[in-house]
Amino acid sequence: MAPHATGTPEPNGTSQEITVLASSRAVINNRLTPATITISTTTGKITSISESVLPASQFPPGTPYTDYSPAVLLPGIVDAHVHLNEPGRTEWEGFYTGTQAAAFGGVTTVVDMPLNAIPPTTTVANLKEKIAAAQGKCWVDVGFYGGIIPGNAADLKPLVKAGVRGFKGFMIDSGVDEFPAVSSQDITKVFEELADEPTTVMFHAEMIPPVTASVGDDVQASQPPLEPSGPLDAYQTFLDSRPSSFETCAILEILSLAHLAPNLPLHIVHLSAVEAIPMLRDARAKGVKVTAETCFHYLSLAAELIKKGDTRHKCCPPIRDQANQNGLWDEMYEADSVIKTVVSDHSPCTPELKLLPSHVPGSLDSKTSSSTEQNSGDFFSAWGGISSVGLGLSILWTETRRRQLDENQTLLDIVRWCCENTALQVGLEDSKGALKVGMDGDIAVFDPEAEFEVEPSAMLFRNKCSPYQGKVLKGIAKATWLRGRLVHARDGGFGEKAAPEGRLLLEPRGKI
Ligand SMILES: [Zn+2]
Repeated sequence: MAPHATGTPEPNGTSQEITVLASSRAVINNRLTPATITISTTTGKITSISESVLPASQFPPGTPYTDYSPAVLLPGIVDAHVHLNEPGRTEWEGFYTGTQAAAFGGVTTVVDMPLNAIPPTTTVANLKEKIAAAQGKCWVDVGFYGGIIPGNAADLKPLVKAGVRGFKGFMIDSGVDEFPAVSSQDITKVFEELADEPTTVMFHAEMIPPVTASVGDDVQASQPPLEPSGPLDAYQTFLDSRPSSFETCAILEILSLAHLAPNLPLHIVHLSAVEAIPMLRDARAKGVKVTAETCFHYLSLAAELIKKGDTRHKCCPPIRDQANQNGLWDEMYEADSVIKTVVSDHSPCTPELKLLPSHVPGSLDSKTSSSTEQNSGDFFSAWGGISSVGLGLSILWTETRRRQLDENQTLLDIVRWCCENTALQVGLEDSKGALKVGMDGDIAVFDPEAEFEVEPSAMLFRNKCSPYQGKVLKGIAKATWLRGRLVHARDGGFGEKAAPEGRLLLEPRGKI
């Protein structure tokens, strides 16, 4: 394990007040360069960066120093979309396990979605419950989104002041009763309320078009469409029930209301359908402040390869076909792409709720309940959500290797999608997302050559159930540093720490 600063001053001065990380490769200012990064262990901030590998002898005797060459120093990943489900559904996930899984994969900041915990984060009082539940349990820094539900417009400005990093609303059933969808009238009120606030309003953009064969379909624990196109354990039947028009219909609705709040940044979470890209491009060209994110799974998994009953792949909007995946990748490389960020949308549940058939890894053993057996592999009854927090860096790297994309450029691209732009989206661009003097000393040490199989030991989230299980991924976060302190090392685990040191990021956003 790398040396660790203790904060105890040496007799001759400051050697224990800094820690030094160096490598022949680091992503600094959108370039790959050798670098030596000095971090204050008092403030946790980067105090200097030298664009060469300085020897340990350049620093006072006893200064903690690690040269990670040839591994790459990246800013810690900022995963701006996770569901940690605590309090209330802690058997699905929790702050301790979810943030450990994040730290394992080089993620140093996560932003928790307002739904799936009970209560949802729709009022300041509810936010306080979440803060109390998170206190002392986080291995990485954690921010919180507020939720938009019918009737809570008056709660939104107080939530901005309380430090939420943005808001999210659903335009279709969310799958949990305590987080109902909003109508166009609700969105109108929200836009009027937040028009000049320093925040971002985000949408789960799926909406049942006025005429559809899927009337009655719910978003997470879905009902079968009125006329299913095939067996309920065939992925294609599920995909057919949630066509691209669900996404385009919702996005058109949002764009039609955007004029009500021209200064308010809007954001489409987990964009899946490529058909929505032209309308977002068009809106941006007209000056609408709208961006989109996509997820690791839409960029690495494809409908054609999802086996019968393998509900680990169920999420909403759905994973679409290979051509759609290619279209998302193409858009990521366009000038001023509408897709600015890539996130996990880590949305776990218990294995029981996934209704996995016994042949799928992660399924329950022979002691399954009778209801599980009855519904086994049913894509409509299974909970929708994919577990992947902490695997994203390796997933993206593996996929870009498969696509034979330029390695050096890809490292810069990943930093842009998963660090800089995600930090910017949630108003943390002054402290997170880049290796710069004055920023937090959050660093992912990335070994692009190493490989690992996604076994339960590589899935530190609470329930070991993910479509990546059994896959061999290329690229490993060999160490994760949070504000100048080593949180996790692949060869040393989480070390001897008494308690996790992640902070809750509740400083209100200052700028519009
Ligand atoms: Zn989500």
